Amino acid sequence: MSLHVILMGVQGAGKGLQAKLIEEHFGIPQVSTGDLFRAMRTRSDDLARKVQDIMTSGKLVDDDTTNAIVVDRLAQPDAQNGVILDGYPRNRVQAAFLESHLAEKGAGVNAVLLLELDLYTAFKRAFGRVTDADGGSYNYYYNADGVNFTWIADDSDCFPPRLEATLSEAGSMLKRRPDDASADAIIQRIDTFLETTRPLISHFQSSGKVLKINADQSIDAVWSDIRSALESL
Ligand code: AMP
Repeated sequence: MSLHVILMGVQGAGKGLQAKLIEEHFGIPQVSTGDLFRAMRTRSDDLARKVQDIMTSGKLVDDDTTNAIVVDRLAQPDAQNGVILDGYPRNRVQAAFLESHLAEKGAGVNAVLLLELDLYTAFKRAFGRVTDADGGSYNYYYNADGVNFTWIADDSDCFPPRLEATLSEAGSMLKRRPDDASADAIIQRIDTFLETTRPLISHFQSSGKVLKINADQSIDAVWSDIRSALESL
C-alpha cells in the first residue's frame, strides 16, 4: 500500500525538518514545492524568473504551475510508493487537484499531519533562521550557539539592518532565505496561510484524516509524536 502524507503548518512549524525524518524512517521521499521552486533559481527563463519574484514577495505561485511541478515529481520512480508533501496543497484548488490526481492512480491522501504553532513563534522561527551548507539550521532567537550574529546597518539608514551570521569556529557565512529576511514577506506568508491554507484543515477533517501535532516542542519530541501518529494508521 502506498503512503501519501500531507504535512501542514505555518512557515517555521518545522515541516522541512520533520519531512526529512519521515523520509528516512518510512522510506518515502519528501516532496517540497518550495524546494522545487527554489531549485529553479539556477534557470534564467521567464517562468523561473517569475517564480523567484513571487517567492521573494511571500505570495503564492499560480496553481497551474504548482500542480504541474507536483505531477511531474509524483511521476518519478522513487515516488511510486508514496510521498510526504511539504508545502502542498496550499489552497482548495490544489487540494482538489491532488485528490483527483491520486484517485486516477488508485491512491489517495492517507493522512494530514497538522503541525500546530502559535504565530508569534512562527514569525521568530522564520525571521531568525539561517542554514549552513550541509542543511544545519540555526536561529537568532532559539539556537544561536556556535554562531556569530551581527546586525549590519544600512549606510543611508533608509532600510532596516540586515542580519548576517557566521559559524564561530569555521568562520563560514550562513545563509538566510531571501523570503525570511523580509519581515513583510513573512507576514504575507502567515496571512496567506491563515486565509487560504488553514481552511483546508476543515476540508480534510471532514474525512477524518487530520492528525494534530504540537510543533512547539523539541525536534525529537515532535518527531516522536509524528512517528506514533503515522504508525497508528
Ligand atoms: P516554502 O518553502 O514552502 O515556505 O515555500 C516558499 C515559497 O514557494 C512560498 O512562499 C510560495 O511563493 C512558493 N510555494 C511553495 N509551495 C507552494 C504552493 N503549494 N503553491 C504556491 N506557491 C508555493
